[in-house]
Amino acid sequence: MKFIGAHVSAAGGVENAPLRAHEIGATAFALFTKNQRQWVAKPLTETSIEAFKANCEKYNYGVNQILPHDSYLINLGHPDIDKRQKSLDAFIDELQRCEQLGINRLNFHPGSHLREISEERCMDYIAESINFALDQTQGVIAVLENTAGQGSNLGYQHEQLAYIIDKVEDKSRIGVCIDTCHAYAAGYDLKNNYTEVMKDFESVVGFQYLKGMHLNDSKATLGQKLDRHHSLGQGEIGWPMFKQLMQDPRIDNIPMTLETIDPSIWSDEIKQLIMWANQ
Ligand SMILES: [Zn+2]
Ligand SMILES: [Zn+2]
Repeated sequence: MKFIGAHVSAAGGVENAPLRAHEIGATAFALFTKNQRQWVAKPLTETSIEAFKANCEKYNYGVNQILPHDSYLINLGHPDIDKRQKSLDAFIDELQRCEQLGINRLNFHPGSHLREISEERCMDYIAESINFALDQTQGVIAVLENTAGQGSNLGYQHEQLAYIIDKVEDKSRIGVCIDTCHAYAAGYDLKNNYTEVMKDFESVVGFQYLKGMHLNDSKATLGQKLDRHHSLGQGEIGWPMFKQLMQDPRIDNIPMTLETIDPSIWSDEIKQLIMWANQ
């Protein structure tokens, strides 16, 4: 079963996210459980938590259909120990919000070395931060997102994701989310070599760790290392790859969400994808 949706707004409270997902015909959704551009947020209220759970139940969004995204400010591999600690505290808070909402996974960008430390040292810090955060929480899987490799962001190679996974102690609580735009911009030619790219993913990371996908076309060209999303079919990747993805039986029962640039056509994009998935 393919679960398809979009990263919907949680404005007015997290409980509104499942309503907005339902309105666009989504069978999955992503959301921010707090303002993604601020360090500290008010705790979720009991009313909001209960309403979120009730709305998810009403519109049939189970745990394999929801993938929240953490704050953009968090850098678990920050070279500076105080700033890394600040990120870790915020990350733990995000995991706890998921716990409260009954969500079993949290998507985040691995981290950036800021050109101050080696890639390896940065990935060691990331794994160390994840281990610490998992220790402080229960039941939520930390889901590393692949990146386009812009700036000093790590996670642009399957090997980097595997390196971090390898150092995480509890393998049942670590996973990855593949963003098609990021993969393409990082140099993985999903458009012309879908089979090869997936084979590489399978052998280096493994589909058992795939806990979500972001479905985006790319304004950036292959290997350009820029994170620029586009609507499906309008970018460098094009529709055929998304059809192939929808018909790939190895990728089932995980939330697959759009972060494409024109929310007014999300329902059409979702409709097209679901049609292919059901063929
Ligand atoms: Zn993404
Ligand atoms: Zn992106």
